[in-house]
Amino acid sequence: MQVILENHQEYQSIAEVLRMFFLEVGKLESGVILVADYEYSDIVLHSVVEREVSVEQMRNQADQTEISVQSRIADSDLTITAKVVPSALRREIKRQIYFLLSKLTGIHYPWGSLTGVRPTQVAYRSFLENRRDKNQTIRDLIEKWYVAPEKAEIGLKTAVAESEILSDLLPELPMLYIGVPFCTTRCTYCSFITQDAINLGGELDIYVEALLQEITEISAYFKRISKPFQAIYMGGGTPTALSDQGFAKVITAIKEQVPQIENCEITIEAGRPDSITPAKLAAIKIIPEARICINPQTMHDRTLQTIGRNHSVKDVYRAYELARTNDFSSINMDLILGLPDETGEEFLYSLDKILELNPESITIHTMALKRSAFLQQQHAAQYLKLRFPDRELSNVFNIAIKKLAKQDYQPYYLYRQKNVRGGLENIGFAKPGYACVYNVGMMSDQISVVGLGSGSSSKRVEGDRLERIYNSKDLTNYVERLAEIIQRKIDFFAKGLGI
Ligand code: SF4
Repeated sequence: MQVILENHQEYQSIAEVLRMFFLEVGKLESGVILVADYEYSDIVLHSVVEREVSVEQMRNQADQTEISVQSRIADSDLTITAKVVPSALRREIKRQIYFLLSKLTGIHYPWGSLTGVRPTQVAYRSFLENRRDKNQTIRDLIEKWYVAPEKAEIGLKTAVAESEILSDLLPELPMLYIGVPFCTTRCTYCSFITQDAINLGGELDIYVEALLQEITEISAYFKRISKPFQAIYMGGGTPTALSDQGFAKVITAIKEQVPQIENCEITIEAGRPDSITPAKLAAIKIIPEARICINPQTMHDRTLQTIGRNHSVKDVYRAYELARTNDFSSINMDLILGLPDETGEEFLYSLDKILELNPESITIHTMALKRSAFLQQQHAAQYLKLRFPDRELSNVFNIAIKKLAKQDYQPYYLYRQKNVRGGLENIGFAKPGYACVYNVGMMSDQISVVGLGSGSSSKRVEGDRLERIYNSKDLTNYVERLAEIIQRKIDFFAKGLGI
């Protein structure tokens, strides 16, 4: 197949959509993209914009001059045309290419032409354009964006919940992320920079000392400029992979040093059940209202072994009971849909077991096939195809959503990852009053986030503008260059924060 671009340079956008349908997509700079797929070798697809539009024009939300966009398959009656303003051009090109390829191949994705990380943004924009008419918005998502009806419904529901949570956040105050890039063992599907804590010994203590220094100095700066944090998230990796003493020191620093608003939400990812000890839970308890996450991912021992998690289902029950005995009143649990060698029924069994435990929130992730993950390296050929639509997986997700709704778990944030199985998504569900505001604020890109620890990122949001800086992923580099890293972050946020 050849895709010929006329009057525009949206190679990346078009290649992104092509990859949803074909495994090998080349990129040429001369206005043509080639797809190596024997079945469609004679097809020529034209993507035409009426006239060239500059990047500045595409960024300018105020420019309302409409431009005609057309996509067609040569020598056929497959054509789609629309007029859009410059800021909607990229989205429209992708929508049209999706439409044509879906017609051509008979492949339909659950989220249709919405290829981005946050389909709820499109859902919410459409909701506002339709003057908050839910039925019309759902119709638009289905008819205009080719979203499957059940996804249109959950997408809109989640978008409305996200917007309500966001309206309670203060755009001028930052959130804090504290990263601990260690885990007890490495999951086979993991692509994070996390390291096996077991092999590091003394390095963990050195890391804790560096992290404490960063917490102290950054806290002092934000105190000085009177910008307390409105939500704090300690994640990783697995923070509880630290030693009991090291972990307690970080929690104490969060409690005593970090400036925070009254009722600041604080989440500590306890993550791997095998890393949760009575001493760690006691340490967290100095922050009485802390949310914690205990993440089983599956309630099948066989799968836990397959994915390299060095714990059992029993450990999940033990950790959960320990947390409840210690009066933790907001517990999140994560499950992953589409784990290797697991059937839909097995996933639903895991969900039922978690529902019996009755945590305050449950997050359903769909297995993503990340490039650097060990699992993908081992089974590259087999796994490449897993991102194509999967009716069974979609049905299982729909059943899971119904089961969750029955027990009063409502969706409150949603995002999609690249190369995710079946083109599906991740959704956070919570009982009323237990949604994690950090997750929503983080995903919205409307709230500044200060990231501490090796590999963390910070983002500064000023109106529509967003800038990021990153802490070194290399542990030695992070520790050795700490003073410079801290100063750079202070300078970065000194340039402006919030609107
Ligand atoms: S617990 Fe999370 S961060 Fe740690 S190895 Fe597993 S997937 Fe990676």
